Amino acid sequence: MVLTPEHEQVMKKVILVSQCVASGEVDIQSEMLHFGYELTALARPEQLKDELLRAPASAVISGLTFGDDSQAALKVLTKLHDDGALAIPLVVYTSTNNLETRLGAIRAGAVEYMVKPVDVADLVRVLDNVTQGSVSEPYRVLIVDDDATLATHTELVLQGAGMETFVVTDPMTILDALEKVAPELILLDIYMPGTSGKEIASVIRQSEEYAGIPIVFLSSEVDKEKQLSAMKLGADDFLTKPIRPSHLISSVSSRAARFRELRTFMARDSMTGLYNHTTTKQFLAAEVSRVKRSDAEMSLVSIDIDHFKLVNDTHGHGVGDRVIKVLARLLRQRLRGADLVGRMGGEEFSIILPLTNAAAAKGVLGEIHKDFGSIIFHGEGDQQFSVTISIGIAEYQDGDTAVSLSDAADKALYMAKHNGRDQIVIAGTRF
Ligand code: GH3
Ligand code: MG
Ligand code: MG
Repeated sequence: MVLTPEHEQVMKKVILVSQCVASGEVDIQSEMLHFGYELTALARPEQLKDELLRAPASAVISGLTFGDDSQAALKVLTKLHDDGALAIPLVVYTSTNNLETRLGAIRAGAVEYMVKPVDVADLVRVLDNVTQGSVSEPYRVLIVDDDATLATHTELVLQGAGMETFVVTDPMTILDALEKVAPELILLDIYMPGTSGKEIASVIRQSEEYAGIPIVFLSSEVDKEKQLSAMKLGADDFLTKPIRPSHLISSVSSRAARFRELRTFMARDSMTGLYNHTTTKQFLAAEVSRVKRSDAEMSLVSIDIDHFKLVNDTHGHGVGDRVIKVLARLLRQRLRGADLVGRMGGEEFSIILPLTNAAAAKGVLGEIHKDFGSIIFHGEGDQQFSVTISIGIAEYQDGDTAVSLSDAADKALYMAKHNGRDQIVIAGTRF
């Protein structure tokens, strides 16, 4: 496979207004590039207005003191804000930390106030937050109804509300559909030939994998008793046909939203937001079985931070945590949406790369390896240090299982460590 453009990151432009620009103190520009932020540096707040007009940007970071005037920037920023000329998020970063200045920043429309010293990891976290769009993926809804006309109607209503829909008219194919669609909500008709919605709901609830998916029954059943008995079988709601579109949309979207939130929470590592060990293993098993069926390529990558214990011992656990978070962030930033990044524990990560052979994987990971190694971290006082990673890559080979593939990636990682760390090793032939 050749590298797709998705591997290249989309740069977000951020305007930095700081008097350090004039004195040449700003060296974060190149570091921020690793995280997908291209900084345009301005030495004076008066330049901001023209820059905003010149090219679209995602955010403004501004210092407050220019020359001897600690109010210089606030005056300009407040005016821009009041004129509606500053429509993107403003982040203030300053060594001044008093209530009066903080209030001034709020009046200028600042969404974040950061007190110096600010390191790159914090800045990236804040920028990630403020520049993140509110557009999320559409909810995936599976509609099970033997009446194709009614199903189409339901589909149109939900699609109109921005959701993605899939219809199953033969309830006996439900298990297949669940696997293919991975729905975030199931709309189930109660009366269908061959089986009933209630039975289907029981089947879904019995499988551990799908037990948490919200199920909403659709029926012309108006008998409250019968509705109640359906609810007992694990239905989350019961909607009576004909359903008002607004009612359908709100019932579906509120439940799908909660399910998505819950699932994200369960499946992820709270420190890095990456997938946790269990989820990563589940995805790997699914991906390997998919590859077996399809003849496609895939690679598994194991990463471990070098001499991480030394980072903790020298700079403290908090700084160690930050190193982990920066690596997690870099991995997510650089990989495609279809790539799955998991934190397997401590300072160990796994990446599942669908449709990617070992050579392509090495290309992508090579960049990440190089860039992570060039990031400068700040410890206590003026201490600066950098950290390296070792990487093992295993491409799926005929006959591989999830376990043998994992072992191969881990062995390659072990070889990278053994050969002196700070390098990438590709696993050899296994069979
Ligand atoms: P090597 O190059 O061989 O990988 O050496 P290493 O020091 O990185 O490996 P080792 O496995 O001996 O040490 C890993 C350390 O990571 C030990 C553990 O205390 C630390 N660690 C594990 N989880 C976390 C965490 O969440 N935060 C921090 N700060 N440290 C962690
Ligand atoms: Mg290590
Ligand atoms: Mg380790």
